[in-house]
Amino acid sequence: MKIAQVWIEHPVLKLDTPFSYLADDCAEKGKRVLVDFNNHQIVGFIEDVFEYSGTIAQFKLEKGFDLKPILSVIDENPLFNDELFDLGKWLAYETLSPTISCFQAMLPAKIKPVNNHQKIKMEKYVHIIKKADLNQLTVKRQEAYNALQFHGEMSLSKWRKDFASMGIALEKLGLVGQFEKEAVFKEKDNFVLSTDLELNIYQKHAFDEIKNSKEDEVILLHGVTGSGKTEVYLQLAKDVVKNQKKQVLILVPEISLTPQMVERVESRFGSSVAIYHSGLNNQEKYEQYQRVALNQVDIVVGTRSAVFMPFHNLGLIVLDEEHDQSYKQESTPQYHCRDVAIHRAKTFHCKVILGSATPSLESYSRAYKGLYKLITMDKRVNENKAKCTLVNVRDAIKRRQNPLLSEPLLAALKARLLRHEQSILLLNRRGYTPLVRCEGCGKTVQCPHCDLALSYHRHENLLKCHVCGYQRPLLKQCDCGSTHFQFGGYGTQRLEELIQKEFPDARILRMDADTTSRKGSHEKILNQFGKGKADILIGTQMIAKGLDYEKVTLVGILNADALLQRSDYRSVELTFDLIAQAAGRSGRGNLNGEVIIQSYDTDHYAITAAASADYLRFFKEEMHYRHVAQYPPYSYLISIQFSDFNQNRCLSQCKNFRQRLSQDGYKVLGPGELLKIKDQYRYRLVLKGKNLQQMRKELWEILQEVKKERNLSDIKIDVNPMNLE
Ligand code: ADP
Ligand code: ZN
Ligand code: ZN
Repeated sequence: MKIAQVWIEHPVLKLDTPFSYLADDCAEKGKRVLVDFNNHQIVGFIEDVFEYSGTIAQFKLEKGFDLKPILSVIDENPLFNDELFDLGKWLAYETLSPTISCFQAMLPAKIKPVNNHQKIKMEKYVHIIKKADLNQLTVKRQEAYNALQFHGEMSLSKWRKDFASMGIALEKLGLVGQFEKEAVFKEKDNFVLSTDLELNIYQKHAFDEIKNSKEDEVILLHGVTGSGKTEVYLQLAKDVVKNQKKQVLILVPEISLTPQMVERVESRFGSSVAIYHSGLNNQEKYEQYQRVALNQVDIVVGTRSAVFMPFHNLGLIVLDEEHDQSYKQESTPQYHCRDVAIHRAKTFHCKVILGSATPSLESYSRAYKGLYKLITMDKRVNENKAKCTLVNVRDAIKRRQNPLLSEPLLAALKARLLRHEQSILLLNRRGYTPLVRCEGCGKTVQCPHCDLALSYHRHENLLKCHVCGYQRPLLKQCDCGSTHFQFGGYGTQRLEELIQKEFPDARILRMDADTTSRKGSHEKILNQFGKGKADILIGTQMIAKGLDYEKVTLVGILNADALLQRSDYRSVELTFDLIAQAAGRSGRGNLNGEVIIQSYDTDHYAITAAASADYLRFFKEEMHYRHVAQYPPYSYLISIQFSDFNQNRCLSQCKNFRQRLSQDGYKVLGPGELLKIKDQYRYRLVLKGKNLQQMRKELWEILQEVKKERNLSDIKIDVNPMNLE
């Protein structure tokens, strides 16, 4: 008899082990099945099927439990080939996550191994089921019959539209029959095609260097914003598709924020492009996934999860804006898209290009050491550099001016309005004010579920928690009896109000998580701005990325050092990235650009280096501090976070876990108490050491033991965490 090893759909540590079921002939590695688990029908995923020489009774004797049969096999064909299956297993070990969570992360929702996966949309078709004697048919019916014979099959809707009653008659005669087929992607055909630009000497150099590099080289393309990296990607992609007949994957941070990249790729490659991102609905995602599986596209442009697409013959991977935080998935499995891309590229023996104006310290130091090939493009295509001014906010406060709107910024905005040019203002804080404080007792208003202050949102007159989503109206009275509240700080809503007051005629757009919650709203706002229907675009960090509008000649960065106040080891790097990227939006066309950076601290190297677009200076300074503190890239970190509604249980499990760690060759920091979130207490251990493989291996072994324990707190592991707040 056959026995299948099946992963259960629940992605928790405790169940991270394959369970045995009696299998039939349909059961095969990589298919989903329906099984009974603790008297619940759930979905499983087959790891393997093997022959067992004994009987069911012998099995019970040997293993101590009853062998239940698989209830049904869901898939006709395995969902993964060997490459993808191995990738899932690799990912589970790499990120120390439950195996099933990796298989789930790799598949589109329609075919995920979970119980509530939705039905795939089917469409009706017609085809000929019996050969007709044409002489028996009227001329009109003959026409319909011949047309169908010519096409082989037709969608029912087209058949009805073209042949109406003639078609129905042929069906009644039993000559034509209906059948169902999965709905497929309807290709657009209205692409406005563009041709290659002639590469300048720097682009040509980069192109040649990459083309002539080793077949599985990782290349870091460090090019300042506006240096024309995208054109280099596009021409390399074309070379791979045309000359090697292979596929290309272009990864981008968040597609809704970079519609321009999609436009540029589509305008070069037309219908052979699949787009894959969170803005698509599940059916659309599935259709795109299938196009890749059926080898119908040459190029995929997508966000993080597109790295798991079922490619046949990948010839190049581009990871644009490789430093971007959105490449890291923050829920289980906490993988970094860059690691997966590099791993897959090894399997396919293809090149990876990591592109950025502000590379992550990890990537740049690897390139510095020669592990990656470093290519630099330090000139903008249009050769002009934006003029950059640093404004110290303390001076404005001394002169009793609004700290958010310094005189130089107001003057610059006014000049843009007069010249009909556009401005972008970055304030990385949404809402009206980040704090509300009672004047009576001095308390800030907190979220009841988290250790966090509630932000005030004026338009809806609501207080909101930006972490758990809790919201409530602003009460008239505090518990202490006072009715007076103080609104502290500035968010984008308040900034918009201030600017509108200063410039009543200015047309302002605001882009933040509040104005972009609806599908398609990003594109809409950017589209309006791109068409010149607004003078000023105000927004949070989402406006710092990828935008390329030639009318934008002023970028104002307000509260530039806000991020520096965080305790996280990466906050300096994030500050540099944010300012440098935002500044890069100014003066991208033929008009000269200006950047104004407002900050309390105008001497900090992250700010001065970003202001002069001097990545190398930033890199060297920051590496010095990372070296002193032995933070990445000088070490590797693994965070182990425990969370539980019961505080004591949480802390004691965290302490027990610490006891198990050998601390051989690495240090353990913690248990550190984290802020309570959604009523859960949280404690964390951090492993810090130079040998990631060894730390991972030891942890993996400990987890095999820990998962057998009862009443386990929720344990979340993050290998190479992006932040440690
Ligand atoms: P990056 O991706 O490095 O920020 P882009 O690829 O967006 O830069 O290029 C900046 C601008 O320069 C774009 O508007 C692009 O169309 C233009 N551009 C790029 N390469 C060329 C070229 N070789 N000739 C003319 N214009 C170019
Ligand atoms: Zn009070
Ligand atoms: Zn909350």
